[in-house]
Amino acid sequence: MTPFLYERASDSQKAVALGGRTGASFLGGGTNLVDLMRETIARPTLLVDVTSLSGEIEDLDDGGLKIGAGATNTAVAADRRVRDRYPMLSQAILAGASAQIRNMATVGGNVLQRTRCAYFYDDAAACNKRQPGDGCDAIGGFNRYHAILGASSHCIATHPSDMCVALAALDASVEIQGQNGARTVSLTDLHRLPGDTPEIETVLVPGDLITAVILPANGFAVRSNYRKVRDRASYAFALISVASALELDGSIIRDARLALGGVAHKPWRAHAAEAALEGRPATDATFRDAAEAELAEAKGLHDNAFKIDLAKRVIVDAFVKLATNKETAK
Ligand code: SF4
Repeated sequence: MTPFLYERASDSQKAVALGGRTGASFLGGGTNLVDLMRETIARPTLLVDVTSLSGEIEDLDDGGLKIGAGATNTAVAADRRVRDRYPMLSQAILAGASAQIRNMATVGGNVLQRTRCAYFYDDAAACNKRQPGDGCDAIGGFNRYHAILGASSHCIATHPSDMCVALAALDASVEIQGQNGARTVSLTDLHRLPGDTPEIETVLVPGDLITAVILPANGFAVRSNYRKVRDRASYAFALISVASALELDGSIIRDARLALGGVAHKPWRAHAAEAALEGRPATDATFRDAAEAELAEAKGLHDNAFKIDLAKRVIVDAFVKLATNKETAK
C-alpha cells in the first residue's frame, strides 16, 4: 500500500474542500477502495473520511425518500419505508454482498464502486481503465462477466452494483456537493459508458461529493422485483440482474420499469423495453417483444454471448411473474 494522509471531515463543506486536493479520495466504508489500495491499483495521497456525514433516511413531502450517502447498505435494506415503498431496492441490496460488507458499505460508496474486471485488478495485465492507452486484455481473454451492451473497443467492463440497478429503475437521483455548489443528477446520467475514455466512469469532477440519494414516489411497490442470476448462490457478482416493475390498468400495462445489471459499464435503464411494454396487454408475447427490443443491439464475445439469451429469458420470466403476482417484492 502506498503511504497516504488521512483527514476526517466533520461536514460536507470541509469534505469537498479536502476532496478537491490533488490525489484525494473520499473514504466511506472502504469495502472497495481499501482493496484497490492494497493492490496498489488506487494510490490516493489523501483519504478524506466521510463516514461521519449524514446517513439519515428522511421522508419527502411528495411521498419519496431521501437517503443520506453515509447510510449503510444494511440500514437501507432494513428500513421499513424502503421495504414497503421500494421493495426492489431492499432486495437488490440484500442480493449484493455478504452481511459483513453490507454493514460497512455506504450508499455513496456503493454508487461509486469500481468494476470487478479481474484484469483491472491485475497490474500485469493491459487495462485501458487503469492505464489509458495500454489496451484491454479482457477483450481477447476470459470475458464471461463482461458487457454485452454499450461496450467499446477500449473497455468491456461492467458496473458491479446491484443497488444501482434498482436505483436506475426507480428514477433515483443523487445530490452532489461540489466546489461550485450543490446539484442533482439522475442516477442514469451519473455513470458513463466507456467510449475511448474508460478511465472516466462518472460525470463527477474532483471534489464532488455525493451527499444523498433521492427516491421519487411511485406506484410500483406491489408489482416489482429484483432478480439476480449468478454463478453461485451468494457473494457473487451478477451475470445478469433485472430490476422490473409493472403498473397495470386491468390487463393493460399503464407503466413499466426495467433496468439491467451485469450487462454494461453502467446500470442499464432499458428504455426500449419500457416503450415496448407501455399501453400493451400484459402477455408473454408483449414481454418477449420488450426483451427482444432491449437486446437488439447486444453484442457477445466468446465467453459472454450466452448472456444475451439469458437476459431475454430473465426479463420475460420476471414480467410474467409480476403480471400474475406469482413473485413480487415483499
Ligand atoms: Fe480494463 Fe475495461 Fe479491459 Fe477490464 S474491460 S481490462 S477494466 S479496459
